[in-house]
Amino acid sequence: MSELKVPSRSEDYSEWYNQLVLRAELADYAPVRGCMIVRPYGWALWENIQQSLDRRFKATGHVNAAFPLLIPRSFIEKEKSHVAGFSPELAVVTHGGGEKLEEPLVVRPTSETIIGHSYAKWIQSYRDLPVLINQWNSVVRWELRTKLFLRTLEFFWQEGHTAHATLEEAEAETRQMLDIYTDFAVNEAAIPVIPGRKSESERFAGADQTYSIEAMMGDGKALQSGTSHNLGQNFAKAFEIRYLDKSGALQYCWTTSWGLSTRFIGAIIMVHGDDQGLILPPRLAPYQAVIVPIYKTDEEKIQVMAAARRIRAELVSSDIRTVLDEREGASPGFKFNDWEMRGVPLRIEIGPKDVSKGSVVLARRDKPGKEGKSFFPQAGLAEAVKQALDVVQKALYERALKFRIANTTDPGDYAEFGGAVEKGFAYSFWCGSAECEKNIKEGTKATLRCVPLEQVQETGKCIYCGQPARERAYFAKAY
Ligand SMILES: [Zn+2]
Repeated sequence: MSELKVPSRSEDYSEWYNQLVLRAELADYAPVRGCMIVRPYGWALWENIQQSLDRRFKATGHVNAAFPLLIPRSFIEKEKSHVAGFSPELAVVTHGGGEKLEEPLVVRPTSETIIGHSYAKWIQSYRDLPVLINQWNSVVRWELRTKLFLRTLEFFWQEGHTAHATLEEAEAETRQMLDIYTDFAVNEAAIPVIPGRKSESERFAGADQTYSIEAMMGDGKALQSGTSHNLGQNFAKAFEIRYLDKSGALQYCWTTSWGLSTRFIGAIIMVHGDDQGLILPPRLAPYQAVIVPIYKTDEEKIQVMAAARRIRAELVSSDIRTVLDEREGASPGFKFNDWEMRGVPLRIEIGPKDVSKGSVVLARRDKPGKEGKSFFPQAGLAEAVKQALDVVQKALYERALKFRIANTTDPGDYAEFGGAVEKGFAYSFWCGSAECEKNIKEGTKATLRCVPLEQVQETGKCIYCGQPARERAYFAKAY
């Protein structure tokens, strides 16, 4: 482990993030600039994210499949706004097997086109609908400014693609998946999110409507953490995805797509982390508890290690993801700091006195020092650990929500608005004009994050132009 000091968040938030990702061994830089190597600890976190989402997808009738990495270039060109949106970011394969290809292939930036092509073959009649397919894969977008997890040239995600008989069904699917992302973020990642509608200029290339969940990071900036798109009939028309309805008439399908990526790991780091390192939400943490044995003499070691191994086995058999730190030559203090940096939600300390008393010390990662420490009997420890994990999970959510509320303001005028987006979110009336949105972006670097789906029905004045407005939107600087 490198001894480089991680700067505090107030000193250098960006470098705090970079150092933490490297030091906690979540990811590493790759030989190709902008690519990312996800290390085992980071991948274990991603696997837990995958499992919690996949369970929800399957519970709502979706199935997984795998579509190819390479897509004929002509496919991307079939949907006009899609090609306009993605062209600058495409990686193109021009040679294969030592020969120049007749038609260049693109490395998928997303799979609407190749899936649309397949759906056109598979869907014949209304009886074939809906089609509800998801895939777990990686995609490539040639990003110029990259940052581990947040924006990488290749990233991992899931992309869901569905086809429906009616607009209403497609819209219901789009909203259902947004709800699933919201539920996942809140209940698994302990991240409060704002589900909302994107403005036209922030929509996915080729979508009629884009919804997103937006979260506030520890520096007050926003991170779009998952998106769900109603694609209307745009891809159905470009790829001839049609079905015979009950009266025998040929109709175009209505399609959707939705995705959540390894970017979400960036959100977990930035929402919960502190100056000591990561704080992982118990429900997603690769290790929920770490046991640190404390001893001086060989005799003590024998006793302490026997108890520690027994406790580990008990916790593991109760489905608590537990690691026992058996490293030789590292002091307990070093181990405490190391696991704090890696964000393990609970630490279990056991020394000779604890062995003789039949107890352990439980220390909460989210409450450093004495405040977060308590003694527990070894008997029935698994139950106590489970309860403590629930308490930490809840406390993390509440802290993040409190932070977001404290850093969200309703500015009285545009001058105040400028100050508000320097430190957090501004929640302001917006007249709906793309012109105002653009001027705000140019003037303050804040973008319209979303128009929240749940809001009080009232009228006001657009924060930029002062014209009557019926809706409010969240504005913030964003990753
Ligand atoms: Zn306006």
